[in-house]
Amino acid sequence: MPRILFMAGHRWPDYATVLPRALEEAGVAAEVSPDLAPDAVDYIVYGPAGDPAASDFSVFPRLRAVLSLWAGVETIVANPSLTVPLTRMVDPGLTAGMVEYVTGHVLRHHLGMDAHIVNPEHHWANRAPPLASERPVAVLGLGALGAACATALVSLGFPVRGWSRTLRDVPGVACHHGPEGLEAALGGARIAVLLLPLTPGTENVMDARRLARLAPGAVLLNPGRGPLVDDTALLAALDSGALGHATLDTFRTEPLPREHPFWSHPKVTVTPHIASETRPATASRAIAENIARAEAGQPLLHLVDPERGY
Ligand code: NDP
Repeated sequence: MPRILFMAGHRWPDYATVLPRALEEAGVAAEVSPDLAPDAVDYIVYGPAGDPAASDFSVFPRLRAVLSLWAGVETIVANPSLTVPLTRMVDPGLTAGMVEYVTGHVLRHHLGMDAHIVNPEHHWANRAPPLASERPVAVLGLGALGAACATALVSLGFPVRGWSRTLRDVPGVACHHGPEGLEAALGGARIAVLLLPLTPGTENVMDARRLARLAPGAVLLNPGRGPLVDDTALLAALDSGALGHATLDTFRTEPLPREHPFWSHPKVTVTPHIASETRPATASRAIAENIARAEAGQPLLHLVDPERGY
């Protein structure tokens, strides 16, 4: 019987019932616990609250795979003690939450809602916003989350350009890839959404030059990872008026330090890394499916490529 270490003890109460049930439904007879002797562990469900870089996987002699609870794996993928396959989380609940966050914040800016929600001078600004079809949106990253968000934005009528490392085919989306493709995806976009993983190839992808590719007064949404954006260049673009607003969910340091200029900048909205979250019920089914596959000798789904970093 395989033994699964749930290495995210702070989240165990959310999974204590649903994960064993999902394993049973997937036909896997397994013991799952947040507390197992290292030499008994076959699989790890991974999402520690503390410093992930501190994890030492070499103490698990039987370990066959590590299944990340999170979609982003930048803190574990380069861990030198990790010598078994690593999977990242692809969870319908996580995806649904991200689609809600991205469409909600895109519509907030598209409709200019702020001017009506906070209107202390009771200004009668009766100018209707443009149609979505007049506001091009760039979605950087067309993976599980980016493709779903791009598809939702297409269904609302936005002209959507997407960008990925390899060429993707997302119906209704003008797909670009590679370094030259980024220039085309960003050129004249009025909203940009970052849903890239953090890797050496994506860090600071939104630097001063790329920010300047966007339309004057454009809006940046970053639910991806903080270091995707050059913060100094972002603040300069907001201050000069080149950018109209930034809605940021992820930051180089989290929690965002109290004195950080983003908190008080009038053109920045800070959300505290809540764009979306792995949902225990649906994530448990994803974990159970992968363990069933491993037990049956089938290839794991959503494998991380250490070379690519995601
Ligand atoms: P995926 O791995 O499914 O997709 C990643 C996408 O980024 C792919 O389209 C990939 O290209 C593209 N990409 C990667 N590297 C490059 C590059 N160098 N140049 C161009 N494109 C690149 O990830 P998910 O969609 O599941 O998640 C994306 C990120 O969202 C996570 O890594 C995490 O950082 C963030 N996240 C944030 C959350 C929040 O609450 N704020 C919650 C969950 C995730 P290709 O298609 O060619 O592989």
